[in-house]
Amino acid sequence: MTINFKDYVADVPNFPTEGVTFRDISPLMADGEAYHAATMEIVKYAKDLGVDMVCCPEARGFLVGCPVADELGVGFAPARKAGKLPRETVSVSYDLEYGQDTLYMHKDAIKPGQKVLVADDLMATGGTVRATIDLVEKLGGIVVGTAFLIELKELNGRDKIKDYDMFTLMDY
Ligand code: AMP
Repeated sequence: MTINFKDYVADVPNFPTEGVTFRDISPLMADGEAYHAATMEIVKYAKDLGVDMVCCPEARGFLVGCPVADELGVGFAPARKAGKLPRETVSVSYDLEYGQDTLYMHKDAIKPGQKVLVADDLMATGGTVRATIDLVEKLGGIVVGTAFLIELKELNGRDKIKDYDMFTLMDY
């Protein structure tokens, strides 16, 4: 059976702010068959990249990356917001539309030389994935690919990660 993945994304106008259409992936997560199929599309992409670790930003990134890591038989490294990680961290700050945000990883989350797949649910401006890539590289990891369920094409996030291989399941 061919799955039309967009059937499992709820488009929510004006959330969280006026003018933004939120692409809600919870219907995809709620359907076991569709969720597994989406996971396996990313696994198929990543299979030949020689991935040692999957790294994703919180929180929806975890929903995408953890099952992929499990299927690949590799580990998972979370990138988190301030105050969440209990041990020594490295951090990268990045620009938002208004202001800045910072992501953190444990200093030992990635070992130097490990090949890393960076994944998230959605790429908009690319700031989040760029910060996650920078964290992995700060730790000595090698980013061998990036994967998203959704790319919002008009925001040109791709321009921020031009040097990296990229897979997207759906675009808008
Ligand atoms: P960006 O850093 O601009 O690429 O934003 C990507 C992050 O923000 C992802 O982790 C998404 O979960 C979230 N995000 C941004 N825009 C949307 C949207 N329209 N719908 C759902 N999530 C979004």
